[in-house]
Amino acid sequence: MKIAAIRVHQVDLPVTEGRYAWSEGKYVEVFDSTVVEIETDDGRVGLGEVCPLGPFYLPAFGPGARAGIGELAPHLIGQDPSELGRINAIMDASLLGHPYAKSPLDMACWDLLGQAAGMPVCTLMGGRHGEAVVLYRAISQQAPDAMAENVAGYRAEGYTRFQLKVGGEAREDIARIRAVAAVLDAGEVLVADANTGWLLPDAARVVNAVKDLDVYIEQPCKSYEKCLAVRRRTALPFILDENIDGLDMLLRAHGDRAMDAINLKISKVGGLTKARQIRDLCVALGIPMTIEDSWGGDIITAAIAHLAHSTPEPFRFTATDFNSYVTVANASGAPQRQQGTMRASDRPGLGVTANHDVLGAPVAVYPA
Ligand code: MG
Repeated sequence: MKIAAIRVHQVDLPVTEGRYAWSEGKYVEVFDSTVVEIETDDGRVGLGEVCPLGPFYLPAFGPGARAGIGELAPHLIGQDPSELGRINAIMDASLLGHPYAKSPLDMACWDLLGQAAGMPVCTLMGGRHGEAVVLYRAISQQAPDAMAENVAGYRAEGYTRFQLKVGGEAREDIARIRAVAAVLDAGEVLVADANTGWLLPDAARVVNAVKDLDVYIEQPCKSYEKCLAVRRRTALPFILDENIDGLDMLLRAHGDRAMDAINLKISKVGGLTKARQIRDLCVALGIPMTIEDSWGGDIITAAIAHLAHSTPEPFRFTATDFNSYVTVANASGAPQRQQGTMRASDRPGLGVTANHDVLGAPVAVYPA
């Protein structure tokens, strides 16, 4: 099996609720997603997707993903997509950094490996743990009362875990956390995710003001050092996300006892191959994970499901069904949320089929 062609599609993903807002006033109404189709000489097509959370979340943006794929694709033509280690070595030798551009190509190769093996990706990644993966629902940043009011609707959809978007003005964030905590039922989980939005004094005020609550604090400040300083002055359970961008940072943070859990995003670390490596190390080190991506549609949701479902349950803090956050389906066969959970497909590969009505004509084809 050899890679014969790589087609790149740009897809707009409008947000079902109209807008998704998080720290420091950032918001997106239509996400810019990139879908790759890798076609092989024996007629298979593998799918991958990358969708940055706008251009100002991680060092990643939609046109950058497509430019990066353009740089990488010529090096992959003629290669065997089932040799994931080689594929990643070739990508890393061809382009330094830019993990998010490599992610959809790696994802599509996993899809092809699964198709060729006749097995779902989750089987190839270690096997299916448990019946289904428990999801969280991100609560877009609004006024405290509005965020608390949204909980009932999400609960009715089956969600039991909620990630509150904070990272705004400290006094208002304290009110947000208290308002949502007050409406939670027993057994529900609350995470306050500042997405790097607080300066150290703000973070200190918030963690002190909510220390009586059962709440996780996620990525309070921009730098790792500042997050570590917050971590050392709060007893609340602590999650690192944006700073954990690879194995080096995971090992450093683990050595510093800098977090209780991490948020593992597929494109942040360069694809499923590297995400699996980090996942396996987290399991070995005893670190639970939120398993997800920066954003995405059906293809990314399928990839998340395979990575999460193949993760032992105690280490699966939660995961995300991004396809339920957007109005457009870029593929069929992706997991659909049921009672706040999703399960990886039993079909070979990722188990998804491109929706060409939505993908439209490719914006680039390699070889040209
Ligand atoms: Mg986060």
